[in-house]
Amino acid sequence: MGKPKILDLILRNLFSKPATIEYPKKETVIEPDARGRHYADLNKCIGCSLCSIECPADAIKMTPIPSEYEPPKRNPRKIFPVINYLRCVYCYRCISVCPTNAYVSTNEYRLATTKTVFSDMLSLSTLPKKSG
Ligand code: SF4
Ligand code: SF4
Repeated sequence: MGKPKILDLILRNLFSKPATIEYPKKETVIEPDARGRHYADLNKCIGCSLCSIECPADAIKMTPIPSEYEPPKRNPRKIFPVINYLRCVYCYRCISVCPTNAYVSTNEYRLATTKTVFSDMLSLSTLPKKSG
């Protein structure tokens, strides 16, 4: 009679590496094209609202550019898309419909938070502030 299967399994697992990793103590390997946090580069955005209209999760609100920032001439309505990352499903439809390729995509996936997180500060960091 052969060894019981359970004994084989125990012996194999005793000498093999664990299948899981100690996250977040150890970093996970992430695909370079993983869909992570994204935001609009306001030097390219023309404020057309298409990304907001097309978002299936209603996660993008068009918002006025604050007065302390220099609004680009190509954005006559002076509005920009602000993503609510807690509503976003990371389908990247906004990125594919944008006529000016304004979106910057990243593979940042560590988005867990107790606060609502928006993309406004990331987007505004692409614009110069008014001098004086
Ligand atoms: S990735 Fe999808 S769900 Fe997220 S903001 Fe863009 S269109 Fe909306
Ligand atoms: S679709 Fe592109 S250009 Fe239009 S508002 Fe969105 S980010 Fe700006």
